Amino acid sequence: MKILVLNSGSSSIKYRLFDARDYTVLAMGLLERIAEPGSRLTHHWRGPSGTLQETVYDRQVLNHREGLMLVDTVIGESGILGSCAELFGIGHRVVHGGEAFHGPTLIDNAVIGAIRDLAPLAPLHNPPNLMGIEAAIEHMPGVPQVAVFDTSFHQTLPQQAFLYALPYEMYTKHYVRRYGFHGTSHQYVAGVAAVHLGRKPEDLNIITLHLGNGASAAALQGGRSMDTSMGMTPLEGLVMGTRCGDLDPAVQFYLARTTGKTNDDLESLLNHESGLLGICGANDMREIRRRAEEGDLKARLAIDIFCYRIKKYIGAYYAVLGRVDAIVFTGGIGENCPYIRKGSCDGLERLGIMIDDDRNQSSGEGTYEIQPPEGPVRVMVIPTNEELAIARQTVQKIGAAGATTKSDGDERISGQGVKPCRR
Ligand code: ADP
Repeated sequence: MKILVLNSGSSSIKYRLFDARDYTVLAMGLLERIAEPGSRLTHHWRGPSGTLQETVYDRQVLNHREGLMLVDTVIGESGILGSCAELFGIGHRVVHGGEAFHGPTLIDNAVIGAIRDLAPLAPLHNPPNLMGIEAAIEHMPGVPQVAVFDTSFHQTLPQQAFLYALPYEMYTKHYVRRYGFHGTSHQYVAGVAAVHLGRKPEDLNIITLHLGNGASAAALQGGRSMDTSMGMTPLEGLVMGTRCGDLDPAVQFYLARTTGKTNDDLESLLNHESGLLGICGANDMREIRRRAEEGDLKARLAIDIFCYRIKKYIGAYYAVLGRVDAIVFTGGIGENCPYIRKGSCDGLERLGIMIDDDRNQSSGEGTYEIQPPEGPVRVMVIPTNEELAIARQTVQKIGAAGATTKSDGDERISGQGVKPCRR
């Protein structure tokens, strides 16, 4: 049996097909520019030799339903999925679960309605996530579908951490609170850290730093999220590729008055034109590092601001947790950029947070530690794998639904007869 993981954006579908027995990746790909000129599907699949092969399909795709049909056809042509009857389930990444979803959830009409109701909190993300879900249900009817929310891991935040100091009814009437995102990643790397350290997650206090184009920090006590840097939306917290992170809210009112920009203009400015890009004109950390090394002062400044904000959060979360056993770096920057790891921890030796330069530079494979032997806090680099985490949670959820039956050697949810794919 196989597990398909889908991450549907407004104009894209990312997918990964796993073998449900051992979570080997059988295929993965990205369909871009849906409903735009120049749609392109880049598909990788594991051939008979075991190596991943690539094929690119340039084919006009008008909507997510057509996109999913193309993905299914291409996977079928690769010979790795005969029909959707071979699918144990489909796991969907959904960005915002509000307070309604505390974990992976089997999708039915009520769940679809709830995800739709949450769209005002995540207008850029939940509607395209739903398009992917609805396309999958239509195209692969009867295959159990599970929603895995970016927010749900952070539903354990205490009120003092998740409430903003606004009139209380802004929370009760308008649901304004901190929800946090990247939950699947924070939870995944914390689990890997516990296994690596040979400790139970319940015994560990960890600060996890997911540093990619989007970036967030989380304070985890005994495996539970106690605080996190993203807020009601992914805009709050750390400096990101194009998002400003923490900002005095009055800046918006001031800019509206002085520049005449509308709310929509400002939303776009803070989300798409700020962060590293806003400071130095580039949002790819490799490019920024290169420019900084060539003497570009703005690139240098962008790196300093980026690291300084991370350091402030490490200090704050140290105070939240009281004792820190490990700090985990993950995400494209966290996993690959020793310079940023060093800059973020510089000066924290008194907190027991130290980095060994050689180990930091070693760019090891998989999980590795970068503190010196005497460092009391384990500083770790752990590659995140949100798709794998979604696949596992999908299998667990379908299994825990308790309604699996066996027929013809296949396991699936009882009562949901598997109808053929609309391939
Ligand atoms: P996303 O949030 O889009 O998933 P990723 O986790 O892929 O982002 O991270 C993208 C970021 O990682 C980019 O800023 C990119 O420059 C950075 N990155 C990737 N590889 C390296 C590297 N070797 N050195 C420095 N930065 C890197």
